[in-house]
Amino acid sequence: MSEPASSVEKVVIVGSGPAGWTAAIYAARANLNPLVFPGRATGKELVPGGQLMLTTEVENYPGFHHGIQGPQMMQEFAKQALRFGTRVVTDDGIKVAADLNADYPLFSSFQNAASLDLKQSPFLVKGDDGVEVMTHSVIIATGAKANWLGLENEMRLAMSGGGVSACAVCDGALPIFRKQELGVVGGGDTAVEEASYLTKFAGKVHMYVRRDELRASKIMAARATTNPKITIHWNTVVVDVLGGERITGVRLKDTKTGAMREQALGGLFMAIGHTPITGFLNGQLELDEKGYIKLADTYRSTTSIEGVFVAGDVADSVYRQAVTAAGMGCKAAIDAERWLAARGVH
Ligand code: NAP
Repeated sequence: MSEPASSVEKVVIVGSGPAGWTAAIYAARANLNPLVFPGRATGKELVPGGQLMLTTEVENYPGFHHGIQGPQMMQEFAKQALRFGTRVVTDDGIKVAADLNADYPLFSSFQNAASLDLKQSPFLVKGDDGVEVMTHSVIIATGAKANWLGLENEMRLAMSGGGVSACAVCDGALPIFRKQELGVVGGGDTAVEEASYLTKFAGKVHMYVRRDELRASKIMAARATTNPKITIHWNTVVVDVLGGERITGVRLKDTKTGAMREQALGGLFMAIGHTPITGFLNGQLELDEKGYIKLADTYRSTTSIEGVFVAGDVADSVYRQAVTAAGMGCKAAIDAERWLAARGVH
């Protein structure tokens, strides 16, 4: 049954990846009666559930020794949070577990937190249909979206598990990539790290770098240039991804001569950076030099505004793993509970 919003919430959670749902599980079990704005799917890049919705098999999350599909895992996270009384904001009002479809709940009608006013206390959160919620504390868990080239076949094969991914550490060890020739797009530290990681499983790794030098730090660059299993294709961009159900190769363009060629591949990994999702904050929270939300204390989830806590990839440019995001979600809920208790709200 739909519930009316209480006059002032104890905690609102923005985001529904591993960080957001874990924060909700902990907050619900601490009787904070959390309210989640799960987010709305926009295009193919932003989806409630986060980056795992674009992943196929997840094999490195502890507790699933046979592995689990990314979207199914997020369903399990959501159901666990809902089981303990977490409420979600939808286009039809605030919903609890009993209102929701047993398979993944009201996906298309989940709401975004369109804006937050963190200058007033309690804080004001506005949904994208204009719904207004007052809250004593907020946990921001909106994540970071992997950057993609924006090619139609790239997104199609990424969404269907066709061998295109934006996370080699997550997907690279899957059997489908073993002993294959694999491609990595990008020339930064992540691209080198991912290419080096993939050489453990792949027959050969091709790095496609759009300029004639790597952006990666010298020490990382040396790892790529000295690894016999890595070939760097300089001044090269991927202009199409080939294949029907699975990737079979890429079409490449030389950025200097304009010459086109094709290369056969068994997998392709994008490593062209991430963009943390912070636009809706309108500059109210301090960010680090890379645009991620800055932690006030590196061991905690506190931010530049008291009562605002952060969890997951939106504050983490380093690890970006489901398990680290979930750990941060747990920390944020515990920090929020203690903060509320210290103010006599809880
Ligand atoms: P990054 O440093 O921003 O590098 C992105 C790379 O992708 C660059 O080579 C860039 O080319 C390329 N690129 C961007 N858009 C492209 C496009 N449309 N087509 C083709 N290529 C494109 O991102 P990152 O490598 O993810 O690193 C992010 C931060 O994390 C960095 O500060 C990095 O040092 C840090 N990091 C550190 C480590 C480590 O120390 N172990 C590991 C991972 C990440 P251009 O150079 O031409 O712009």
